[in-house]
Amino acid sequence: MLVTKCVSTNEKGHLTIGGADALELAEKFGTPLYVYSEDKIRQKIREFILSVNKYYNGNGLVVYASKAFCCKEMCRICKQENIGIDVVSGGELYTALSVDFPAKKIVFHGNNKTYDELTAAVENGVGRIIVDNKTELKKLNEIAANLGKTAGIMLRIKPGIDAHTHDFIKTGQIDSKFGFALETGEAMDAVKAALDMPNLKLRGLHCHIGSQIFDIAPFELAAKVMLEFFRDIKLETGVELEELNLGGGFGIKYLKKDYHEPYAEYIKNVSAVVSSFSHELGIKTPFILIEPGRSIVGVAGTTLYTVGSVKKIPDIRTYVSVDGGMADNPRYALYRSDYEIVCANRAEEDRTETVTVAGKCCESGDLIQENTKLQPVKSGDILAVLSTGAYNYSMASNYNRIARPPVIMVKDGEARVVVKRETYEQITANDI
Ligand SMILES: *Cc1c(COP(=O)(O)O)cnc(C)c1O
Repeated sequence: MLVTKCVSTNEKGHLTIGGADALELAEKFGTPLYVYSEDKIRQKIREFILSVNKYYNGNGLVVYASKAFCCKEMCRICKQENIGIDVVSGGELYTALSVDFPAKKIVFHGNNKTYDELTAAVENGVGRIIVDNKTELKKLNEIAANLGKTAGIMLRIKPGIDAHTHDFIKTGQIDSKFGFALETGEAMDAVKAALDMPNLKLRGLHCHIGSQIFDIAPFELAAKVMLEFFRDIKLETGVELEELNLGGGFGIKYLKKDYHEPYAEYIKNVSAVVSSFSHELGIKTPFILIEPGRSIVGVAGTTLYTVGSVKKIPDIRTYVSVDGGMADNPRYALYRSDYEIVCANRAEEDRTETVTVAGKCCESGDLIQENTKLQPVKSGDILAVLSTGAYNYSMASNYNRIARPPVIMVKDGEARVVVKRETYEQITANDI
């Protein structure tokens, strides 16, 4: 059994992705290759939308965090599915706008947005700019005033919850580069300042407590901390804010041992907490936003590689080298991230070998996975690294002047290119 149902095997014993034979894909489009199951992406999006409709009366917006995987086709899918998009740079904003994504449904994040990025956001009518700090608050008000516009904003708050400790705790997590701290009074000062700025419309508050979170409880705790702050704002200023953005961070399964509740359960529980707690505090039930990234695209993506050399170092380890590596997937090098790997042309054989899968970059740390179980493989075999849909293509680089792989989407067994393979001409295009 493989970790995700996005992949399966066919009568030839080959791996299939979204119904397409992985070997045929590798043959047709070359390797390394990013392959996405379009149905899986849409299914995940709909899971979130349906949950917000069912458990929160539809009084919310699902916003895809595009930093997980951003390209025009992904923005088109979000547009078709009627959700919002969260962007964190001028480049992601440009990508969304280039497919006529409705600006009102764009949420713009970042702890140090530039003057040009903020100007582009205001000029294009981005619905919610998430203001991170006082400098930005002032700068944005000036930009909006100069353009004769009013910008919709939310403030990013540090709720002081560390979701990554086993017993997640409410800590004084002031040491983060993102957002305004509650406990120092900084957040309240920022709210008051924002309310006084004529060219800004404060729509609500935002928090994001981390990524790859399996428990529901940290989200519930964050919602409570934020709602208490809504109440404090009401008491101190008389203003009732309309919107609560709870960020993203819903975990996915990389390995069989990983477990998370269905996303509907997260939304159900958090919705119940928001409804009952806002009632208890005597404040309006807010419109909510959630910003899933990884949980929408993570398991939908698979990376295919061709095996080059297999190097057995007696009593030490076996290196299986592939034609990609940290340039297309830097996550193991960065975080020691887990992945399940399978040999696509021997997908039904047992994984009896323990190997290290290495990339082709000139860097010892260029590994995809260490001590992982794999079928016995030889040069020319095709490897599939599973659940690479999030933070792989979007984190890819040209290190060693390696061209970025293409992105393929598969739907009903049919594959199409949504991002072409980079060429050496493109890599040298800006060289003088
Ligand atoms: C990264 C990020 C997300 C998405 O996180 P996932 O773990 O991919 O769901 C959402 N909101 C903000 C502000 C982020 O920085």
